[in-house]
Amino acid sequence: MVISEQRTKVLIVGAGPSGLMMAAQLLRHGVQPIIIDNRKGPTDQSKALAVQARTLEIYRQMGIVDRALQGGKQANGMVLNQDGREVASLSLTDVGKQQTLFPFVHLYQQSKNERLLLDFLTQNCCPVYWDTTLVSLKQNEQQVEAELLSGTDNMPLICDYVVGTDGAHSIVRKQLNIPFTGDTYANEFFLADLELNNEELTGMQVQLYWGKAGMSAFFPLPEHNGYRIIGNIPIASEGKPDLQLEEVLPHLKAVTGIDIKVVHNNWFTTYKLHHRMADKFGLQRCFLVGDAAHIHSPVGGQGMNTGLQDAYNLGWKLAGVVNRRLKETILDSYAAERMP
Ligand SMILES: Cc1cc2nc3c(=O)[nH]c(=O)nc-3n(C[C@H](O)[C@H](O)[C@H](O)COP(=O)(O)OP(=O)(O)OC[C@H]3O[C@@H](n4cnc5c(N)ncnc54)[C@H](O)[C@@H]3O)c2cc1C
Repeated sequence: MVISEQRTKVLIVGAGPSGLMMAAQLLRHGVQPIIIDNRKGPTDQSKALAVQARTLEIYRQMGIVDRALQGGKQANGMVLNQDGREVASLSLTDVGKQQTLFPFVHLYQQSKNERLLLDFLTQNCCPVYWDTTLVSLKQNEQQVEAELLSGTDNMPLICDYVVGTDGAHSIVRKQLNIPFTGDTYANEFFLADLELNNEELTGMQVQLYWGKAGMSAFFPLPEHNGYRIIGNIPIASEGKPDLQLEEVLPHLKAVTGIDIKVVHNNWFTTYKLHHRMADKFGLQRCFLVGDAAHIHSPVGGQGMNTGLQDAYNLGWKLAGVVNRRLKETILDSYAAERMP
């Protein structure tokens, strides 16, 4: 699908969770944005797993929380194991009781969150323009001129505002010359989404293992016998291109003491951890939201959640300004409230 407009009130660059939520919030407040993404379509990579209470509260306001709850599962607790022996456990069933309607950690993959939000957009007649890339932008006090590439065709688009939800390598942030200050940790980790046949791994508990051999964590997935496993890559295999699951299984056995029986390997990847934050979350008529503004360790499960909550914060303010119900100065409160 090709954009037919030459002008828009708001251009959202990136249809990951932050961009989809940004579009959803603008729609809720009566603004029809244009949202683009350089991918061919939605992702099926699970990525982030934990949905926090604040995000579920937003879903409730949008009328979509029931589907999110039905499609996921609650983590009951966390068990800490050292050198194959359980040393402590923690209940996760009443986290924040009396402060939220959702006092638990809900396990519901990022790909499902994206589908949920995408369906909300579809129901509100807001298409995502896939295979459409922001190439460059320049702005003045009145407007932003964006240069897009739709398939192989160049396309100029005049925008009142631009929201960069285009992830850690954000072109919006780079075009605005906003530094992304921080660092990358040296160690490399693996992530595997697996179906297992291990009777010792029952229940909806997060299992953490550490010891002389290394560390790993097992998160139960909503699917039958499904587990997300993360762990350190043994030093001998660090930096090895195209590392395979089979190569880390002996290491995983040494860390956990469990002979991992894999029925199906849904996703295996390796990654490094970063902590970086944009020096500013906005400049004139452009804003940064989600990973475009900040990236950090997935421990605590806040990566996707903070992006969704950034979008919720900016959405009603930007809609109010676009609809001429609020003064433009309200937009300054976005960075003031969302920057740590
Ligand atoms: C392997 C892995 C595991 C993870 N695990 C966890 C976890 O367990 N818990 C957690 O909280 N977080 C996790 N994360 C992080 C989480 O996935 C991110 O925080 C989240 O995706 C951020 O969402 P976003 O919408 O801000 O950015 P993204 O999801 O990166 O979306 C950005 C979108 O912008 C598009 N785009 C980029 N440039 C352009 C352009 N020029 N024009 C048009 N479109 C563009 C991209 O195609 C992409 O679709 C994980 C990430 C990875 C990679």
